[in-house]
Amino acid sequence: MNYYSLNKIAPKTTFKDAVIRGLAPDKGLYFPESITPLPKKFWDAIDSFSYTEIAFEAIKQFIAPEIPEHILKTIIEETLSFDFPVVELNNNISTLELFHGPTMAFKDVGARFMARCLGYFNKNNTNEVTVLVATSGDTGGAVANGFLGVKGVNVVILYPSGKVSNIQEMQLTTLGQNIKALEVHGTFDDCQAMVKTAFLDDELTSKMQLTSANSINVARWLPQLFYFIFAYKQLHNKHENIVFSIPSGNFGNICAGMMAQQLGLPIKHFVASNNANNVVTRYLASNQYEPKPSIQTISNAMDVGAPSNFIRIQEIYKNKFSNLKENISSYSFSDDETREALLEIYKTFNYVADPHGAVGYLGCKSYLKKQPTAHCVFLETAHPTKFLDVVEDVIKEKQTLPKQIQKVMGGKKEATLISTYTDLKSFLLTIK
Ligand SMILES: *Cc1c(COP(=O)(O)O)cnc(C)c1O
Repeated sequence: MNYYSLNKIAPKTTFKDAVIRGLAPDKGLYFPESITPLPKKFWDAIDSFSYTEIAFEAIKQFIAPEIPEHILKTIIEETLSFDFPVVELNNNISTLELFHGPTMAFKDVGARFMARCLGYFNKNNTNEVTVLVATSGDTGGAVANGFLGVKGVNVVILYPSGKVSNIQEMQLTTLGQNIKALEVHGTFDDCQAMVKTAFLDDELTSKMQLTSANSINVARWLPQLFYFIFAYKQLHNKHENIVFSIPSGNFGNICAGMMAQQLGLPIKHFVASNNANNVVTRYLASNQYEPKPSIQTISNAMDVGAPSNFIRIQEIYKNKFSNLKENISSYSFSDDETREALLEIYKTFNYVADPHGAVGYLGCKSYLKKQPTAHCVFLETAHPTKFLDVVEDVIKEKQTLPKQIQKVMGGKKEATLISTYTDLKSFLLTIK
């Protein structure tokens, strides 16, 4: 599959090149040249397919021919070595648990898939690739874990000092080996801006091959489309009118859901659930797209002021505001509302959600007011114990740490403190 840049200036390129570059030379995000829906017989027979078979059928057109089919199958099997259960809360609301991976964040799937693709492309290559990534919380851990020990790949993770949870910080600062953490004196937007500057710095990129493992990278972004099909498989015999509510930050996950829709997944609508960082909620209400600096919230992985994947969503819906409005609703919720929702979910359903899931739950409730016959699935994007302070404070009950989390808690934090782009650049040049 070829990919084009959404800035439409850079030449088209292959999947391999798009993964290695991350961002196109004209700074645009890459987008697949075509999307061929899966045949009706695939959707009709979905009950008879395993998750790995579904994933293979869904993604192969975007990868072939650069990764041979038998290798792609192995990559998928290794990537999906944990479960994706749907838990029904009542007749109208379910949650899709995406936190059963090694770092208990939904980003594990994209990070593991991308790491294996890059490992494959790099197998005969003596040139090292440096993965440079900014994290608002969970990307860092998932990328660190997914890329740990991958040959020929160095990973540098920037995170905003004091703005990620303790567990998240441990997950990205304690692994060592080819993983380096940079603690940035600033916000997530500052981290993201520094990463972008590095990609555009000719002096730097002439000395090293940099790539990104944020959802701007097609190999991180696309595998997320699996989740929506997995949930559909679990629910379609019981419920009609399935709608997904996606707690959104950079809008990569929801945009992957829309790709599943383009492949023929019979889903009519998406709910983009936001915290106070609500540029998309405001856009859908006003037709004015106004990115703003990010605001810190208790659902910190969604503290994004300028969602990078929104441009892909606009491409999917052919840049037509009316198409967009038909396919997506968006709501925004405060931290107080999120805390109340956490408590409500616990008291009503005896279910412990995390703050991001709680925002998704609120999105379902708002949507169901308009469409009471829908079945709304909110994505539980992280395990509640990753946000222990908030969760225990709200539900007033001690949580047991799962073994994945216990494992990192005893580790030793290693991070380099930086403040400016110059600091980042000299750091990168020293590891080169
Ligand atoms: C990254 C993340 C999100 C937001 O996903 P996007 O693809 O950036 O919209 C939501 N919840 C959690 C826990 C995350 O880590």
